[in-house]
Amino acid sequence: MIPPIASNFVAGETPEAALAHVETLNDRGVAGILNLLGEHYEERPAADADADAYVDLVESIADRDLDACVSVKPSQIGLDVGDDAFRENLARIVAAADDAGSGGPGSDGSDAPDPSGTFVWIDMEDHETTDVTLDAFERHATATDGNVGVCVQANLKRTREDLERLADLPGKVRLVKGAYDEPAELAHKKKARVDEAYRDCLAYMFEAFDDGVAVGSHDPAMIEYATELYAEHGTPYEVQMLMGVREREQFDLAADPDVDAEVYQYIPYGSKWFSYFYRRVRERKSNALFALRAVVGR
Ligand code: FAD
Repeated sequence: MIPPIASNFVAGETPEAALAHVETLNDRGVAGILNLLGEHYEERPAADADADAYVDLVESIADRDLDACVSVKPSQIGLDVGDDAFRENLARIVAAADDAGSGGPGSDGSDAPDPSGTFVWIDMEDHETTDVTLDAFERHATATDGNVGVCVQANLKRTREDLERLADLPGKVRLVKGAYDEPAELAHKKKARVDEAYRDCLAYMFEAFDDGVAVGSHDPAMIEYATELYAEHGTPYEVQMLMGVREREQFDLAADPDVDAEVYQYIPYGSKWFSYFYRRVRERKSNALFALRAVVGR
C-alpha cells in the first residue's frame, strides 16, 4: 500500500485507483494522462507485461468514457531490450488505443461509435533515445492520423530543429524543459538559457503547428507566455502538469473562463512508486513539506 506521504504524487498501485483519481479530476474539469511507473527493463517479459497493462488501460479509459489518455516511456516497453521489442509493443498499444471505444457509445453521449479512440503520448527519455523516439512517433502519428503525441525537451540544442520536422506531422507535441542531466555539448545547462530555449520553441510551435501544442510545465511564466501566443495565433493548446505539483493552479486554470486551454494532470501509478516519489521529494524541499503536511493533516 502507498503511504499517505507518497499519495500526493502517485495515484495508487492499481489501474483501478488511477482511474478513480481521473474520475475526480474530470469532475473538476481536468483531464488525466496516466503513466504506469516503470522504466529501463532489460528483459522482454517485463516490457511485454507493461505493454499488456497499457492495452488494458486504454480499453478501460474508453469503456468508462473518461477524459484521459496514457503516456508511455520507450524504455518501459522494450527499448533497452532491442528495437524490435519497442516497435512491437508500441504498435500493440497504439492499435488498441486507436480501436478503443469504437463500437461503443460516443463520448458526446450519442449512440454513434466514438471514432477518436484513446490518445497515446510517448515520453522522451535521455538524448540517446531521441531519434528512435521521434521515428516511432512519426510512424504512428501518420498511421493513426494524429492519435499519438510525443514529448520534446527544450534543454536539448537539437530540439528547435526537430520541431520543424514535427510541424508537418499530425499528432500533438508536448514541450518540456527536460528532466535528464545531458552533456553540455548537446544541452543548455543554465536555467535561464533553458527558459529562453523553451520560449523560442513555444513561439515556433504556436506559429507552425496546426494540431495543438502541449505546454508541459509548472512555470507560471511559460503558461502566461502560452496564453499570449494563443491570443496572437489561435492555435489550440493544452497545459500539462504533474499530480501533486501546483494542483490548485491546475484547477484554477481549468475553471478560468478567460483561458481556452485544456488542462491535463500527469498521473503516475503502479507498484514501482517509491523511486518516483523519492525523486519528487529530492527535487524540491517544498514537496517534502507538502507531503508531510498532508500526513499530519495541516
Ligand atoms: P521549472 O523551471 O523547473 O519550475 C518552474 C516553477 O514550477 C518552480 O519555480 C516551481 O514553482 C514549480 N515547480 C516545478 N516543478 C516542481 C516540482 N516538482 N515541485 C514543486 N514545484 C515545482 N521531462 C522529460 O525529460 N521527458 C518527459 O517525457 C517529460 N514529461 C513531462 C510531462 C509533464 C506533464 C510534465 C509537467 C513534465 C514532464 N517532464 C518530462 C519534466 C520536465 O522536463 C521538467 O523537468 C519539469 O516539468 C520541471 O520543469 P518546469 O517546466 O515545471 O519548470
